[in-house]
Amino acid sequence: MGTLNELLSWGKGELAAAGILEYELDAWLLLSFVTGIDRTRYLADRDRVVLDKDICYYRELISKRSRRIPLQQLTGWQDFMGLAFEVDHHVLIPRQDTELLVEEAGRRIRKRAQVRVLDLCTGSGCIITSLAHEYGSLGSGQIVRAVGVDISERALEIARKNAARHGVKVSFIKGDLFDAVEEKFDLIVSNPPYISSSVIERLEPEVRDHEPRIALDGGEDGLYFYRKITEQAADYLMEGGYLLYEIGYDQGEAVASILKKNGYADIKVYQDLAGLDRVCLGKRMEE
Ligand code: GLN
Repeated sequence: MGTLNELLSWGKGELAAAGILEYELDAWLLLSFVTGIDRTRYLADRDRVVLDKDICYYRELISKRSRRIPLQQLTGWQDFMGLAFEVDHHVLIPRQDTELLVEEAGRRIRKRAQVRVLDLCTGSGCIITSLAHEYGSLGSGQIVRAVGVDISERALEIARKNAARHGVKVSFIKGDLFDAVEEKFDLIVSNPPYISSSVIERLEPEVRDHEPRIALDGGEDGLYFYRKITEQAADYLMEGGYLLYEIGYDQGEAVASILKKNGYADIKVYQDLAGLDRVCLGKRMEE
């Protein structure tokens, strides 16, 4: 077994046997990652003999993927909002669903001249970095201050690298929600952990065993962080400012009612491309 074609068939077989749904795609993506070959080159040259060191590396990655380590933790990358984000097992892998939160935040940023944005539970920093990339945080553009908070120093290390890679200025602060925050913002966004503790055991092994539990677990009913953040946010949000959350598909009503109970107005729930509740937001009332 030494050609591109042979290696790919072997990889597919291994991943299929391990029960991986996307075995064809994953086997190809790992081969392309290891050899640096794109689809066109592969099709033109599939009988090319692969270097021994690449064969070794491919075998190692296929074996890890068979143990249900997420593909993105093997390649170290995930695209989000058209930007490449570095990831490892200390951060949640950015999800396409979260792009809806970024888009809704963007719509509210565009309407204002100078916007200060806070991202709580920033993880890889994908949300605040893509907002800063799109709306500026280097003195020009609408965002004049961008802050990302996370309780995990290991996550913040990744987030800082991601912001630097995309040339944006974001202050990353270590803290438990608002504990280390000392200023007010026009927009607070968050994709907090929101899976009910008991549901975590039923998730796919990639998520359950390899993504950080601390980024998933939203307490007994999954709503712990929405309650906590909403109760505290008024002290850190300007009057007329927005609090925007990513939420789970079945949390629209519950999160909307938490916002309502805390005096927020213009409460809205938005659906993702699959038609499921994905974003909930409210406006802090003028007092
Ligand atoms: N904000 C990050 C993301 O959306 C991490 C979220 C989390 O860790 N719960 O990907």
